[in-house]
Amino acid sequence: MLTNLRLPAALLAVALVALGCGSDDSLGPGAQPLFRPAVHLPQGSATTSRVDPELRLAFIGAKEDARTDGVTLVVNSGWRSRAHQQRLFDEAVQRYGSEDEARRYVATPDGSAHVTGDALDIGPPEGAAWLGEHGAAYGLCQVFANEAWHFELATSPGGTCPEMLPDSSYRG
Ligand SMILES: [Zn+2]
Repeated sequence: MLTNLRLPAALLAVALVALGCGSDDSLGPGAQPLFRPAVHLPQGSATTSRVDPELRLAFIGAKEDARTDGVTLVVNSGWRSRAHQQRLFDEAVQRYGSEDEARRYVATPDGSAHVTGDALDIGPPEGAAWLGEHGAAYGLCQVFANEAWHFELATSPGGTCPEMLPDSSYRG
């Protein structure tokens, strides 16, 4: 009975930590914060319902074929509202110190293909790598050299992907 009562609390604690709401005291007092990568990956809504239908179909095809190769493709971020994209951009300005620098990593709401439903951020890294190699068969292309996870429909299925832009600031 006691374990039955304790289980939900344990699950809640796990959920809170997963959401970043819990304090992580497993490292002990005075421990350094957990490692954070130098390049922040913009995390957004994994919403695919408002993604361009052609893009969604292309991704579904790629996902099935990746699975036969033993690779899992996950959408980490699909469509984003303008407000959400603005928030990500504002955070990037804080992080990188200027709007010009921030634009290399996060597009403004006017420039983001996520806002128009024309981009998917794919994970995990091995999934993105698979799609980088095989995506053109589905019309899916990595468009920014510094974003191995960001894919858009940029060629016809089986076509050739256009040359990558160095980063998202080149799109304007
Ligand atoms: Zn993206």
